[in-house]
Amino acid sequence: MGFVALCRMPRGFGIYIHLPFCTHRCSYCDFYSLARKDEAAPYAAVVDGIVAELAGLSQELRVKNIRLPLAETIFLGGGTPSLFPAPLLEQVFGAVEEFFPWASDAEITMEANPETVTTAYLESIQKHTPVNRISMGAQSFESRHLKTLERLCTAEDVKRAAGLVRQAGFENFNLDLIFAIPGQTLEEVVRDVETAASLLPTHISFYQLTLTPGHKLFSSLPDESFQVEGYERGAHALEKAGYDLYEISNFAKRGKECRHNELYWTGGDFLGVGPSASSRLFVDGAFMHRKQISDLAKYLKNPVSTHAWEQNTAQQSFLEATFLEMRTRSGVDLNDFSHRYGYDLRRSRKLPVFKEQGWVVEEGGFLRLTRQGRLLADGICRDLADY
Ligand code: SF4
Repeated sequence: MGFVALCRMPRGFGIYIHLPFCTHRCSYCDFYSLARKDEAAPYAAVVDGIVAELAGLSQELRVKNIRLPLAETIFLGGGTPSLFPAPLLEQVFGAVEEFFPWASDAEITMEANPETVTTAYLESIQKHTPVNRISMGAQSFESRHLKTLERLCTAEDVKRAAGLVRQAGFENFNLDLIFAIPGQTLEEVVRDVETAASLLPTHISFYQLTLTPGHKLFSSLPDESFQVEGYERGAHALEKAGYDLYEISNFAKRGKECRHNELYWTGGDFLGVGPSASSRLFVDGAFMHRKQISDLAKYLKNPVSTHAWEQNTAQQSFLEATFLEMRTRSGVDLNDFSHRYGYDLRRSRKLPVFKEQGWVVEEGGFLRLTRQGRLLADGICRDLADY
């Protein structure tokens, strides 16, 4: 599997907008959303809240004397953003443009569930919004696994939706896949990857199913050897189909890496609006975080000043950056990292052992995980950060 180091991954500034409704709540999902499919869902109220929150944030940052550059990425996530009528999304973009304008070449992504995608909806999105990238949850192409995951779409829905997205002219689109589903075989993991690739997305996210203890399927999850083998085989199939790994769970055609993801992993600044959305800014040598309330009713009552910013300690920022950056293809730019976070990973006590084990490589000023090391990423990052 090719694992080519990049020279540098840019940071930057992006905006995340959380749209908190789904037709059905899938029990494995950790994201905040409410099951609503009827016309009466308070879509307009949420949009009003988001517009007010954007205005409030802009004012708050002005008072703090924090200036942000043009946004390079905007990401509409959820929930299921594609349940929102496009004219309402136009209002959201109107407010973003007013308070946090974006660059002319910004990547603007919208998540969509396959069963909501129609030609008319895609045309309406193109007419009313600047969205130029679509991200769809396929998860699997086996109907019994889709049922296990409580997905409403069928494999045929995903294939049809991918075709419509391409026909509508969205050249840049992602499919999400999940592996290590209870009852899944290794052959099915590979087949899912091959089927996804045959739909010609520019990007494929390949996540392992993780469940919290107590979930009804927790005890049916495949064992660790399946997880490792499933990841290896799936990643190999992705590379074979022309998708390069650029983060442990993310693969893209060359030049089609998700810039919003990259910004997040490399310590970039982002503002998150909408219930449950997180924000992060790097100010005075440490990250500041703000987590919006995960309660729609309370959010709608007061979207502007619900939760305050909290400042990380320098050590928390360094830990956070280690966990995120080490998972990327290029790894950590050691000099830049040390300059920014004040910690030099070359001084980590465990580094010589990890190098000897063949889990990490230091090359061209970057420290990165090897293919073997990727399977142990969390433990390695935790120990690297402990010195
Ligand atoms: S549709 Fe997506 S966001 Fe909604 S509950 Fe299911 S997985 Fe989560």
